[in-house]
Amino acid sequence: MNKIPEMFGELVFGEAVMRERLPKDTYKALKKAIADGKPLDLEVANSIANAMKDWAVSKGVTHFTHWFQPMTGATAEKHDSFISPTAEGKIIMEFSGKELIKGEPDASSFPSGGIRMTFEARGYTAWDPTSFAFIKDNALCIPTAFCSYGGEALDKKTPLLRSIDALNVQALRILRLFGNTTAKSVISTVGPEQEYFLINKALYEARRDLVLTGRTLFGAKPPRGQELEDHYFGAIKSRVADYMADLDLELWKLGILSKTKHNEVAPSQHELAPIYSTTNTATDHNQLVMELMKKIAPRHGLACLLHEKPFAGINGSGKHNNWSISTDTGINLLDPGSSPEENAQFMLFLTAVLKAVDDYQDLLRASVASAGNDHRLGAAEAPPAIISVFLGDVLTDIVNSIVDSKKYNKKEQGYIEIGVGSLPKIPKDNTDRNRTSPFAFTGNKFEFRMPGSAFSIAGPNFVLNTIVADALCTFADALEKTKDFNATLQSIIAENLAKHRRIVYNGNGYTEEWVKEAAKRGLLNLTSTIDSLPEFKSRKNIELFKKFKVLTEVEVLSRYDILVETYIKTVKIEALTMIDMARKNIIPAGEAYVSVLSKTAKSKMVIDKGISVELEKTLISKLTDLLLKIYRRTEALESKLTEAEEKGDITVEARYFRAEIIPTMAKLRAAADELEVNTAEKYWPFPSYVDLLFSV
Ligand code: ADP
Ligand code: MG
Repeated sequence: MNKIPEMFGELVFGEAVMRERLPKDTYKALKKAIADGKPLDLEVANSIANAMKDWAVSKGVTHFTHWFQPMTGATAEKHDSFISPTAEGKIIMEFSGKELIKGEPDASSFPSGGIRMTFEARGYTAWDPTSFAFIKDNALCIPTAFCSYGGEALDKKTPLLRSIDALNVQALRILRLFGNTTAKSVISTVGPEQEYFLINKALYEARRDLVLTGRTLFGAKPPRGQELEDHYFGAIKSRVADYMADLDLELWKLGILSKTKHNEVAPSQHELAPIYSTTNTATDHNQLVMELMKKIAPRHGLACLLHEKPFAGINGSGKHNNWSISTDTGINLLDPGSSPEENAQFMLFLTAVLKAVDDYQDLLRASVASAGNDHRLGAAEAPPAIISVFLGDVLTDIVNSIVDSKKYNKKEQGYIEIGVGSLPKIPKDNTDRNRTSPFAFTGNKFEFRMPGSAFSIAGPNFVLNTIVADALCTFADALEKTKDFNATLQSIIAENLAKHRRIVYNGNGYTEEWVKEAAKRGLLNLTSTIDSLPEFKSRKNIELFKKFKVLTEVEVLSRYDILVETYIKTVKIEALTMIDMARKNIIPAGEAYVSVLSKTAKSKMVIDKGISVELEKTLISKLTDLLLKIYRRTEALESKLTEAEEKGDITVEARYFRAEIIPTMAKLRAAADELEVNTAEKYWPFPSYVDLLFSV
């Protein structure tokens, strides 16, 4: 175990290896290309590729792959070996700069939302040198962006990289205005907390719904769920502890800063949090975390569930996205700091975040929309679907005093004058840790709590980066023009806080009162995926993405199509799985039990006609009613699915799924769950909730 520092990052072609293995000039050229965002010369690329290959081969690696993140939300790879034939009929191991920089996977089967119909059919992958190459499954993995031949983004990484640039440019403008001449770049940082369930592998495999859809589509409420709240932070069982240790080791080898692990609220639910890193790296790493979580589980006889809602009536899983911005010199721009100069700048960045979140509630909400997450948001276990910001008492007091021109902290302080050098020291707020807020300030970062556990964090973060870049851009435009910096700063902050203060809410977000209060404030409440996704392509939002070159109009529209299609497909697979399970397993199981009951009644009567068969009669009648209900609801679900196919337009179809198919699925489930409760255990065809939740 004392080998961990040496082992950390051993599968990564990172800083240390590069410095050791790259010729000095090559290393410098690479660093410069990354800093300037410029492409590399082929000669430099050849030299890097060769060093990468030698390093990988020294570790027994035989293949390389461009590793990319198509719109499926998963990662994709296609392995090619390093072998290259020689004239003597032998082979040598080769990897060229061209192969490193660009790949041409056959992209025709990845979702593109129509982009490839209007443009070229092929796609290509382009090396992202800002994320380190690594070794996985005996292959050298090169992180890449995935685009169409016309350059349209077909993946999650491309807009993220573009948004990182946009934020950098705008934040630097602000820093320069505050006299900062040393920072060369501003980056956003992210620490994503990953929630997941671990259940017994054999039981998982016995449930077709879990295997096909990642969640249980049937299952009666168990006598015991999470009521005792004894699982949260509880002692970790040894099988789970072994799994977590195994996972940590694999993650550390990949240079992933896995830090915290604990049991979560629901039985069998856990969390892993890494130490934060740059948004691009954090996104790549989180994809690897999810992949390894699933892959390592079977070694321990377990299955890992990343779905947002694997079990009805039990807490679902989210992914808290801790987000901040800092300079390359290590200054966190969302840290209130300790001196007034820093505070004025902090107040401006804080104001920018409030403005961004308020102006683009719709986009933030759309960035976390999915069929799976619809089960969480607004279900009083996760943030409501309404976006608001938790600021804590101290900052809220400061905001109010600025907006209302009231004295702050009456006794000690006067009115808050904003101007560089005139703001009072802002004490750190450690009071409330509001768990119900979707977007909470937690001392020196914001925690966006709405993303679902199965999400790629690329989506929420490219939105966050872009909307904050937009607010900073507006401020920089005004500040660069003014002759009186302090006065303009004062009015920007005061005016924007006045306008956007409505987004601040420190109370309990799970209550009905908040829903009413939010409506009064004019805040959006987009309760479902199909209510929120169309906002993604509103004129205002398309203009935003165009302005900062994060997405073109075509890219926005194609992404919308992909997201809506994914929603439809997800629910459709669930509905078809329900129909299949109802017909092939549930109805036959109920019938088998009925048949046993009738045989019992008959044999009783053979013994003595006078013996009561009241029990069998009542139960058979109850079960028969339920079975008929299940049968009819299955038929109804099937005919609604057929009807959905006739809608033509995907938005209309998605709305139909939400309005008609999902409620029909719920009805079918209700009848089946009631049948489960009334059926002898040995006739029930699947492991129950008790089996699933309490068997590890
Ligand atoms: P909690 O569960 O109380 O929210 P955790 O410690 O589990 O807290 O998670 C906090 C996360 O926030 C960690 O991943 C941590 O690295 C991350 N974090 C801390 N500072 C920053 C920052 N400046 N930018 C982004 N993430 C940060
Ligand atoms: Mg948290």
